[in-house]
Amino acid sequence: MNFLKKVKDTLKKIGEEDGKEGINSFLHLNPDVLKESEIIEKKIKSGKAGKLAGKIIAIKSNMNVLGMTANCASKTLENYKSTYDATVVKKIKKEDGLIIGMLNMDEFACGSSGETSAFGPTKNPINKELISGGSSSGSAASVAAGFCDISLGSDTGGSIRNPASHCGVVGLKPSYGSVSRYGLMDLSMSLDQIGPLAKNVENVKLMFEVIFGKDGKDATTFDVTEIPEHKKQKKTITIGLSKDFEKLCSDKKMYEIIKKKVAELAKKKGYKVVDVSLKHINLAVQAYYPLCYVEFFSSTRKYDGRRYGHKIDETCGPEVLRRILGGSEISQAEYSGLYYRNALKVKELIKQDFENAFRKVDFIISPTVPRLPHKIGSKITPQEMYSYDALTIPANLAGICAISIPISEINKIPLGMQIMAPAFSENSLFDISEEFEQIK
Ligand code: GLN
Repeated sequence: MNFLKKVKDTLKKIGEEDGKEGINSFLHLNPDVLKESEIIEKKIKSGKAGKLAGKIIAIKSNMNVLGMTANCASKTLENYKSTYDATVVKKIKKEDGLIIGMLNMDEFACGSSGETSAFGPTKNPINKELISGGSSSGSAASVAAGFCDISLGSDTGGSIRNPASHCGVVGLKPSYGSVSRYGLMDLSMSLDQIGPLAKNVENVKLMFEVIFGKDGKDATTFDVTEIPEHKKQKKTITIGLSKDFEKLCSDKKMYEIIKKKVAELAKKKGYKVVDVSLKHINLAVQAYYPLCYVEFFSSTRKYDGRRYGHKIDETCGPEVLRRILGGSEISQAEYSGLYYRNALKVKELIKQDFENAFRKVDFIISPTVPRLPHKIGSKITPQEMYSYDALTIPANLAGICAISIPISEINKIPLGMQIMAPAFSENSLFDISEEFEQIK
C-alpha cells in the first residue's frame, strides 16, 4: 500500500468536500500530516509498524492532541492549543495511527444534532440538508464521507451512537471505566466515555483494542475484560427486546424494522429472543439532565478566562449557558437533596433493571435513536432535543457497553441498531455486530 498517496488523496477530498460550505466535519487539520505519514510509511515498509499503521484517524475537538487546536467547537477556547496528549492519543501514536485533524462537534459536547457548534453545523454526508447527529457530529460525518478510516468521539448520553446512527456508520460507547478519560474535556465525568467510530465493526474493534485499559491518570479505569456468561457456559445466546424501549420510540416503524432484523439473525443462528422489563428507563432523560447540568457546571468553572481561553459564561452559546445556569441553580438548591441525589437514585434503579435483565439475556437490542434526523435549522424545543437520547442514555447511566450499527434505511436515511451488553463485554458486542453486518 502506498500510504502517502492515500493521505494525499484524502487531503484533496477533504479540500473539495469539507469546509464551511461543504460537510464541515473538520475544525483543524494537522499541519505536519505529510511529514508524519512519511515516517509511518517508512515503518510500514520496514515491517516494524504498529497496529494502526496505514489508518487515517480523526479526533473530536474535546480531546487533547499535542500542538493541535482543541477548542470544543466553542469561542471560549477558540485559540487553545493542547500542551499534551490525552491517554487515548498517546496510545494511537504509539501504534502508528496518523492523526489527520480535529473534528467539529456540539459546543462542549452539549447537544444531539451537531448544531450547537460555534463554527456552524456539520452536515450529514448522506443528505446535506439533514443534521449529522451529535454531539460527535464530525466524528460520524468524517467517517461516512470517507475523510478518515476511524475517528474518536465521546459519549455521555449517546453522542457516539446517535450520530453513528444518523450517518450510517458503526459507533461504540465502551463500558464506563474501560477507556481512560485523561485529556478529555469533560461534559459529565461520571458518564463520559471515549469510543471509536468507523465504517465497519473490524476497525472499531481494532481501535478499541488500542485504547482500552487501566490508566494511572484516570482512577476510574479497569483492566478487565470479563468473559460473558454465554461464553463461559457455552449456552445458547439469548437476545432481549423490551417493550419499555419500544414505548420510547416516536417512530414505530423503526422498532418494527429492528425487531425483524433480530428475528432474522436469531433464526439463522438458533438464538433465543425474549422480552425483558426495564421499567425505569422512561425516567432516564429526566435523571440524566440534573446529573449532567451539575457536573458540567462544576467542570466549566476552570474556564474563567485567566489560565486559558475566555470566560465561558461570556462567550458560550445558549445551550451551554442553559446548562451552566441550570447547574448552578440545582447545586444551590441541593441542600434539600432535591435534584442531584434523586437523579442518582434513579441511576441506581436503572442499573438494577439492566442487572436483572442481563441475568436472563446476553444482549438487549433497540433502535439507537427514537426518530429520524431533522433538517438543519428546524425549530425544535430543548425538550424535543433532549428526547433524542431517550434510548441511549440508559446505557450511560448503567455504565454498560453499547454499540450502534447501521442496519437498514427509511427513505434512504440510515437507521442504526443499538446493541447493549453487560459492562466489560465489548468483545461479545463485536461478535454479534459482525453477525448482523453479514445479514444487512
Ligand atoms: N445529547 C446529550 C447532551 O446533550 C448527550 C451528549 C453527549 O453524549 N455528549 O447532553
